[in-house]
Amino acid sequence: MNREPVSRELFDEVMVPNYAPGTVIPVKGEGSHVWDQEGKEYIDLAGGIAVTCLGHSHPGLVSALMDQAEKIWHLSNVMTNEPALRLAKTLCGLTFAERVFFANSGGEANEAAFKLARRYSWEHFGPEKNEIIAFKNAFHGRTLFTVSVGGQPKYLEGFEPAPGGIHHADFNDLESVKKLISRDKTCAVVVEPIQGEGGVMPGDGEFLKGLRELCDDNDALLVFDEVQSGVGRTGHLYAYQMYGVTPDILSTAKGLGGGFPVAAMLTTEKVGKSLGVGTHGSTYGGNALACAVAQRVIDTVSQPDILKGVAARSDHLRKGMMEIGERYGIFSEVRGSGLLLGCVLTEEWQGKAKEFLNAGLEEGVMVLIAGPSVIRLAPSLIIPEPDLDEALTRFEAAVKKVCGQ
Ligand SMILES: *Cc1c(COP(=O)(O)O)cnc(C)c1O
Repeated sequence: MNREPVSRELFDEVMVPNYAPGTVIPVKGEGSHVWDQEGKEYIDLAGGIAVTCLGHSHPGLVSALMDQAEKIWHLSNVMTNEPALRLAKTLCGLTFAERVFFANSGGEANEAAFKLARRYSWEHFGPEKNEIIAFKNAFHGRTLFTVSVGGQPKYLEGFEPAPGGIHHADFNDLESVKKLISRDKTCAVVVEPIQGEGGVMPGDGEFLKGLRELCDDNDALLVFDEVQSGVGRTGHLYAYQMYGVTPDILSTAKGLGGGFPVAAMLTTEKVGKSLGVGTHGSTYGGNALACAVAQRVIDTVSQPDILKGVAARSDHLRKGMMEIGERYGIFSEVRGSGLLLGCVLTEEWQGKAKEFLNAGLEEGVMVLIAGPSVIRLAPSLIIPEPDLDEALTRFEAAVKKVCGQ
């Protein structure tokens, strides 16, 4: 076995240059702590982009993975398997869902959601009713369909022609949706209840309720992309439960596997019926190992004390960041919900989010950005309070550096 030491330089030699990863290579994680090749320790407020919702090396997840690893890993969908059936039953029990389709990533869960919306409309209303209304600044994944439904044109540049029949309205502006929606043409409205990549922008309760009504009035399906906002992130298992607005289709990924790749599309029996035998599929979708891990994630995260703990940690982190913001005059607002927070840089610091991220790494704290002017935090849902305090101390040191103090 070749186990030569590897360094960041190797990335440029062997990888397609679509990412620009940082210079350190983490090699071990435990809870909310991560260590790099040099043994330097970091506190993780990034969570692998809202993925490691129970931190690193969570004993329950490790044992779920090991237990299943000794039984059976994979069967394909020619056979079903116990972990997939159990997980689907659990998800149906905890949400509006009556039917589940498993995939491996958020993009794929959304691809399934959008295809289902078209197929359902085609079956019930005919081929003309195929238009999808989505939102500017939205992010739904990187497949050609999901990047087209997403509302950031830069991600589509050079990849056209894109799939057609997609329109973009303004997020949190119901009037802009009314102008685009029609009973004859619209098959679905697709929205993130909280826009993640687009800057951690929470949907307005009235706006989301209004979308539900507009969809009902126009026989269109409401699709919630909860790839980032789901699995306890907001302190509710799914954000739709917090808003009290129930979609027809919901996509979930990121936190679902706690770091193991797995995703799901949830829907009702009536709508799900339109993905009949042979209409859609995925070789790895419903993989036994993945579902066994996701089962443990959902069983753990759905416990009331864990969800309640998210609210307490959120208050703590939000307050700490706001205080830092005030001391250095760097944030105009800290927005978001639960442990998905966006610290919005003031006019003076516009476009500088990456500098704070890099300084954070130097000081031993991992944060995310969401666009050039928002620092995004998405730590483990069970991060201990002392770790939060230490992370805030280190982040303040990073801010001091960036602000030249
Ligand atoms: C990350 C994300 C996706 C894409 O998920 P992948 O697993 O990267 O395909 C889709 N929608 C939202 C809201 C996301 O945050």
